[in-house]
Amino acid sequence: MIKTDIVIIGSGIGALSVAGKLCKNGRKVTVITKGQRKLSNSSLAQGGISVALSKNDNYKLHYEDTIEAGCYINDKDAVMTLVSKAPEIIKEFIDGGMKFDTDSQGHLLFGKEGAHHLARIIHAGGDRTGLLVIEQLLKNLNENITLIENQMALDLRVKNGICSGVITRGDDKIINYYESNVTILATGGIGQLYPCTSNDITITGDGLAMAYRAGCELENLEFVQFHPTMLNIKGKTMGLISEAVRGDGGILVTKDHKPIMEGKHPMKDLAPRDVVSRVVYDYFLRGDDIYLDISNVKNFRNRFPSVTEICESNGIDLSKNLIPVRPGAHFHMGGVKATPYGETNIKNLFAVGEVACTGVHGANRLASNSLLEGIVFGNLLADKLLESSMKSEHFEDAISNIILGELPSKNEIQDKMMDFIGIVRHKNKIAEIIDWFKHYMPKDKQSMPFDKIDITKASNKEIEIYNMLTAGYLIAEAALKRDKSIGAHYITED
Ligand SMILES: Cc1cc2nc3c(=O)[nH]c(=O)nc-3n(C[C@H](O)[C@H](O)[C@H](O)COP(=O)(O)OP(=O)(O)OC[C@H]3O[C@@H](n4cnc5c(N)ncnc54)[C@H](O)[C@@H]3O)c2cc1C
Repeated sequence: MIKTDIVIIGSGIGALSVAGKLCKNGRKVTVITKGQRKLSNSSLAQGGISVALSKNDNYKLHYEDTIEAGCYINDKDAVMTLVSKAPEIIKEFIDGGMKFDTDSQGHLLFGKEGAHHLARIIHAGGDRTGLLVIEQLLKNLNENITLIENQMALDLRVKNGICSGVITRGDDKIINYYESNVTILATGGIGQLYPCTSNDITITGDGLAMAYRAGCELENLEFVQFHPTMLNIKGKTMGLISEAVRGDGGILVTKDHKPIMEGKHPMKDLAPRDVVSRVVYDYFLRGDDIYLDISNVKNFRNRFPSVTEICESNGIDLSKNLIPVRPGAHFHMGGVKATPYGETNIKNLFAVGEVACTGVHGANRLASNSLLEGIVFGNLLADKLLESSMKSEHFEDAISNIILGELPSKNEIQDKMMDFIGIVRHKNKIAEIIDWFKHYMPKDKQSMPFDKIDITKASNKEIEIYNMLTAGYLIAEAALKRDKSIGAHYITED
């Protein structure tokens, strides 16, 4: 048993925001992450962070845009907490050394993205925001942090509604039992459940599946956001083309240069993501290629160095001003039900970042609100933990005797998810995929469909597949329950 005060699972913006503040205030923290420390969706983020800091903006306008994009089913109090605390927390981050892009006089530059009524996205290194934010957060860590890489969390240690840590296994194949007073899930979303995704390879819904097995309440799982513009190379997605490109004048067109968003939404190319994704996907299903026309985007290479690199390394000649695109799974609005302070229904277990569902995103996330969520709610969670002390309960872990049966491949799960629980969902097909998932329940299962298994008898790769099945199944069940289209959940009778 490894004893530690606080254990955080993941090393994205949510995890590192909490860790930084706690260690600065003398708390000992262990951070466990599945890959290397910079492997996360946070590091891949391009567009930036939305925050009401420009002269003509205020947090109430940010609030309005957030709930409009979320189709008004957001948790209004959580949104208000997010947008009103954001300016101060971002200013503190800047004072602590983070360098966002500025003009020659040192004033922050603000970009515009979909469904924002004004420019409020701050960015760093052009479109390298996520990586530079993560590098700064890593710099903020001190000797109170133990950061363990290449260590996969396998299950949470929960008994009688109290969490007492996590079970992990790394490359050395040794199973570690962490006993902690506080356990924080910061494992990100579920993007790798789909064949076309912007998400990092480590993002396979592990946190959601572990939380489910631990008895956490989950919420809004049916809402999966697809980003309309991933680089499309022969039907495969090869990286994200930031929405900020459309914010700077990029237009979606057919191969005959016909703009496709004309007449589809008043905000045209900057309509909410679910709207734009469905329009692009519709062309895609008819076999028509769609391009992002960048002829009106000024200073493209300097403003978008990451996008330039992604395009050129995939053989796109940017002088032609046309980037082939298609939608890909991008963000999960649903997750482990949590307050803005990370509290879940399990004592001593907290959730922060994309794995959590605080309700701020409603049915559809407003662009660049998720890095913000990670940093703001990460800070609030750290403040909460600094004010209170928690004590775990010592117990011996009961080993499950349930073993995995036959498993599908990762590709099979991804293809099924895209066909059955993708951008457009067909009511009668959802029940079909639920049956397909059930076929892969472990042998001798007990009352819950995807129960805890004997982790000593399964490899990390098998547990990852099992987590993907669990998360996919839960998303399908949630989609089946919501029979009306709203936001990212688009359902048809056909
Ligand atoms: C390409 C791309 C561009 C984006 N651009 C923007 C943007 O411009 N602005 C914006 O606001 N949002 C953007 N987003 C969304 C945003 O980046 C994410 O929602 C946010 O970074 C999530 O942060 P997080 O800390 O919750 O999770 P992540 O940053 O995804 O980190 C999760 C961490 O948990 C680890 N992990 C997962 N499972 C386990 C396990 N079993 N054991 C141990 N560790 C585990 C992962 O390896 C990772 O380190 C973008 C996303 C992508 C993919």
